[in-house]
This record gives sequence, C-alpha cells and structure tokens, in this order.
Amino acid sequence: MPNNILLCCKQCGNILKPQTDIYICGTCFKSYEIVNGIVLMEARKQDVDLRIPKNLMDIHKLRYERKYFGSVIKSDVEYYAHLHSINFTKFHVELLSSYINDPAVIVDLGCGQLPSINYLHESIVKKYYGLDLSYESLVIANNNFKRHFPLTLVQHGITEIPFPDRSVDVVISSEVIEHIDHPFDHLIEIYRICKQGGYLSLSTPCASMYFYPFNFLYALKYPRRFKNWFNNWQKQINAHNYWDEALMWHPGLRPKILKDWIIKAGFSIVRHETKLWYYHTPIRLMWKTCAFLEKRGFSSASIVFKKYLEFTDKVLSLNIPIIKWSGIRQFILCQKSR
Ligand SMILES: [Zn+2]
Repeated sequence: MPNNILLCCKQCGNILKPQTDIYICGTCFKSYEIVNGIVLMEARKQDVDLRIPKNLMDIHKLRYERKYFGSVIKSDVEYYAHLHSINFTKFHVELLSSYINDPAVIVDLGCGQLPSINYLHESIVKKYYGLDLSYESLVIANNNFKRHFPLTLVQHGITEIPFPDRSVDVVISSEVIEHIDHPFDHLIEIYRICKQGGYLSLSTPCASMYFYPFNFLYALKYPRRFKNWFNNWQKQINAHNYWDEALMWHPGLRPKILKDWIIKAGFSIVRHETKLWYYHTPIRLMWKTCAFLEKRGFSSASIVFKKYLEFTDKVLSLNIPIIKWSGIRQFILCQKSR
C-alpha cells in the first residue's frame, strides 16, 4: 500500500495520501483536515450525538491522577472501584496478545479515549487506527498516548468504514455494538475490512445484568409495578427482538445471540469470556463495607477491596458455566476463516 496508509476517500474510495496537515485523495482531490492530530473525515450526526455523554470524563486522568469529573478521589476504595470499571478494557489487549504473532494493522471502531492504548506492545502493532465520532474523546486519546507505535486517529463513525476490503488484521469493537441502530450490519462491515485469518475482538454488555438480585428486590418492593417489570424483564433478556426500544436502556445481549450473529456474519469463534461483577449487589456491599472500614481508619480495607475485585475477575475467567454467565461484560474473539 502506498505510504502505508489505508484510509479511503469518502467521495471516490481511493487511498488517501498524507501531506502536511491534510490527507488528500490523488484521484478526486478531496482533502481531509488534520486538527490537533485528528483526521477529520465525518462530522458528528445529531442522532448519534445523543449517545455521547454531555460531560466527558478523562479516564486517563482517573487512572493516573485519580481525578473523577474534576474532583480528586481521596478514598482508595472508591478509586479502585472506579478503576475496575475501566480496567476490563485491558482484556482486549490480553486476548489479542496471545493470538497475534506478527505486527498487525489494527482498527479500533468507536475507540473513544482509548483506555488501553498504552498497554499494547509495539511488537504486535504495525499500525493502529482509532475511529470515533467524538472529536473531544480523540483529543484525550491523542494527548495520553505514549507513542510507542504509529497511531492514526480519525473522526469517523462506524458505518461505511473508510478502509478497503480485506485490508486489516485486527478489528476491536469495544462497547460499541449496543449503541448502534443496525448491530448486525456492524459485524458485516467488520467482516468486509478484515483480511482472511484476521481477528475481531468485541465486547458488549451481557443480558445477565438483568438477573442481579437488586432487580428482583425492586419487584418485591413495588408489587404493583411487578407486571411492568416482568414485561421489561422479558424484553431485556431478548433485547435483540426489541432493538430500537432496547437502545434507550443500553441493551445487554444473551451470549448465545451474540455468538449466533458472529457466526452468521461469517466469523468463527475463538474465545468467549465474561468480565466484571461490578454491579453485582454483593460487590456493592463489599464496596460499602470496605469504604466504611476505611473511614474508621482501617487502611488495609482498601487493599482487601482491591484483592476482592481481582479475585472476582479470576473467578469469572475460570469458565465455570453458571458463574461465567454472571459477568456483566462479554468478550468474544473471533476469526475470519472463510
Ligand atoms: Zn477521492
């Protein structure tokens, strides 16, 4: 490929060439500005805007400076709790690292602030493309990247992805499919840009989050609303059948449905795992108990809590069926084998 760049012109589909502060199409001469290191290819659409939080939290500031929406987290317990909810994204890196042998062209769709970019080892990355509609998130990603491999950040959505057919070794889709109107088309599009033998690492919420004890307690507490709750509960575990409605409440898919979609799109499944017991009532209890003890001066309470969070992730990765299905995030690694 010329210039090692794979980005395609939105107008004519030909490969773009990098110049100072712009990418230019050699065929139709359409140019794309580079602002603050971000290639501007597609402006935000209003309907998608709704799903981008109004106040962005800088997750790198949370990780390295303990800043949570502007204020510094003093409690270690609280810090570990918040950190745990972003640390699961590292799993994409861990998953891929054990399957990629040669430096790969990686495309991260809906990459956001790239919480795990600095965990990727340079030996597995030939080139990394991060695509997101949120310019603000891309700037945060750019400012926090430690520059150990080539990174190209592009303001672009995740439909009609500007890459040629069979041009990419690895696609990452982390917490994206549950936000888009046509989730199956997303998989088809990924299949198109993937090389033969290429990988897709995808994560999305699990329907299991609707089975957590507090849901049932809520039903008991408000018996008159039970019927409503029950109807919603049925919809929640069958989000794939009520997708338009489900998008409003952040749908979680049943693992079987996700696996069916993946196979139908043409991929074969390499691994499927779940992560995060975070919202599980017992963990909230553990969080509250440890925070209480920490306040009373037991400084080791935070260490206990941290170990407990690590322990829950380990338990989930044991692959014991009933326990496995209680993770609220599912990770699927699949391969384009045909
Ligand atoms: Zn063009």
